[in-house]
Amino acid sequence: MTHEFDAVIVGGGGAGLYAALEASKSAKTAVLSKLYPMRSHTGAAQGGIGAALGNVEPDSPEWHAFDTVKGGDYLTDQDAATILAEEAVHAVYDLENRGLPFSRTPDGKIDQRRFGGHTRNFGDGPVRRSCYAADRTGHMILQTLYQQCIKNEVHFFDEYHVVDVLLEGARCAGVVALELRTGELHTFRAKAVLFATGGFGRMFRITSNSYASTGDGPAVLARRGIPLEDMEFFQFHPTGIRGMGILITEAVRGEGGVLRNRTGERFMERYAPTLLDLAPRDMVSRAIMTEITGGMGMRGDRRIDDWVLLDATHLGREVVQTKLPEISSFSRTYLGIDPVEKAIPVQPTAHYGMGGIPTDLHGRVLCDERGKVVEGLYAAGECACVSVHGANRLGTNSLVDLVVFGRRAGLHIEEYVKGSDPVALPKGADGPARAEIERLMDGKKGPHGGQLREEMEVAMMERVGVYRSEKEMVGAIETLRSLRARYQEVRVQDRSRGFNTDLLETLELGNLLDLAYTTATAANNRKESRGAHAREDFPERDDANWLKHSLAWLEGDGVRIGYKPVSITKWQPKPRAY
Ligand SMILES: Cc1cc2nc3c(=O)[nH]c(=O)nc-3n(C[C@H](O)[C@H](O)[C@H](O)COP(=O)(O)OP(=O)(O)OC[C@H]3O[C@@H](n4cnc5c(N)ncnc54)[C@H](O)[C@@H]3O)c2cc1C
Repeated sequence: MTHEFDAVIVGGGGAGLYAALEASKSAKTAVLSKLYPMRSHTGAAQGGIGAALGNVEPDSPEWHAFDTVKGGDYLTDQDAATILAEEAVHAVYDLENRGLPFSRTPDGKIDQRRFGGHTRNFGDGPVRRSCYAADRTGHMILQTLYQQCIKNEVHFFDEYHVVDVLLEGARCAGVVALELRTGELHTFRAKAVLFATGGFGRMFRITSNSYASTGDGPAVLARRGIPLEDMEFFQFHPTGIRGMGILITEAVRGEGGVLRNRTGERFMERYAPTLLDLAPRDMVSRAIMTEITGGMGMRGDRRIDDWVLLDATHLGREVVQTKLPEISSFSRTYLGIDPVEKAIPVQPTAHYGMGGIPTDLHGRVLCDERGKVVEGLYAAGECACVSVHGANRLGTNSLVDLVVFGRRAGLHIEEYVKGSDPVALPKGADGPARAEIERLMDGKKGPHGGQLREEMEVAMMERVGVYRSEKEMVGAIETLRSLRARYQEVRVQDRSRGFNTDLLETLELGNLLDLAYTTATAANNRKESRGAHAREDFPERDDANWLKHSLAWLEGDGVRIGYKPVSITKWQPKPRAY
């Protein structure tokens, strides 16, 4: 079946919905989402959205932009960071006007709290910049945007799983999607397509990401010749629930919670004397791993699955119940621990991919080192790389990224489709997608994806994790290469058409394998330590050779790497002390 729209948005999370909202002001717009949109991972965001409103203490967008650049270890594009910080203020008030129920100060303003790496006056001390709705900020963003999209008559195709993008020369012509209910393939012809498919943390064993965070967008585009930018930078959040990875928001530390090792010591005093527990995430994760490998984890056996404690017992029941209700219920449900009475066992959890589909400041997808645009093709949100997070994202900056750059892409799309005609589609445009699905379901004997998935997750977690070295990464690359070869033999067991989740999970596994392979290869290629990329064999940041973005092209069995410069407009790189 073929459908025709001006704009097709792939993904119903914060980025996709904001783009849809703007595009649909005049363009006929569809949102395709493999999940019911309200179940997108944005709904899990707890801590907040950063914006220099200055509601509770002095603040400025310039300080916010600086923190974003420094937090990203100077790999952040400074033109993008400036836009992010300036437009964040508008975006938060816009969300408020559209009905988002932010938590309030006693005099009725949007309340703000502290978050890691956000400072006053270029690093003098922590600042209260994160706007929040208790610890349900992302959930409220989704609800607000979804209602507004309904008002704008956006067409929602829920449980449509995009499996291919249609490129005709240097233009995008549409996408192919599998309808979950029937198993049918649909072709969507569109003047503009935006990918907003979210993260890909599911390539790691321990992750905070939802089951659906499998990087479908970047993988689909990579297989069609689009490079991926800065894939080596993957953030580990310091406080995942031990053994499970479920996130305990940084807001716990923002409200005053502290990390302790087996002797009860507040060890962050030794690693970040000014910001302590609120240093950026990459630094806190490394500090935890250093404690653990030094025998100071709770078990004390130096193994990487040991843990430390997040202590919020001194905050009192009132603060925990009003400002952190979800966390309180998570730790009771998953650990049987009331955080008011006992500290929470935590370990670093794979959380956020800084890299992704390269875009310009309007969300247009770029296909080479010189910034060549693929006409009609856009990306925004976690699957994209503007690059506003550089080598390490600060907490609360992803939600800002979604709304600022989702909005900018939506606005550009609205204008672009007015002046362009749809591209003619060749007959059988869905042929390659159909052939791949038929292969997976042809009834022949072959390994099931589950086994491959586990091997991938372990290889990524243990060998391309918080600390990295050439020896380990070369091993991971070999494993991933062989897993990708074995994937060609994989077959699904469930051969029914409707609601075939076995098929969808197998397609997602293929995407994860491609992205894991690209990530490991790009990580082994970058011979320095910067932000979340910490190499034991190259422990220093090396601006002379590596102050540049990487672009990785997936080409058959290999990955080709190129580079492009970082935009430095205001702040020359300095050592990153906190
Ligand atoms: C537990 C947790 C807490 C977080 N807390 C915060 C926070 O407090 N502050 C902050 O700034 N950031 C936070 N983050 C990060 C932030 O929430 C995410 O980066 C962000 O929500 C991603 O939004 P998105 O719109 O890019 O994608 P998502 O919200 O992940 O949405 C992706 C969408 O794409 C669709 N999709 C995916 N693949 C396909 C496909 N093949 N076909 C069709 N549709 C597809 C999905 O159905 C979904 O609708 C948190 C992340 C996690 C995991």
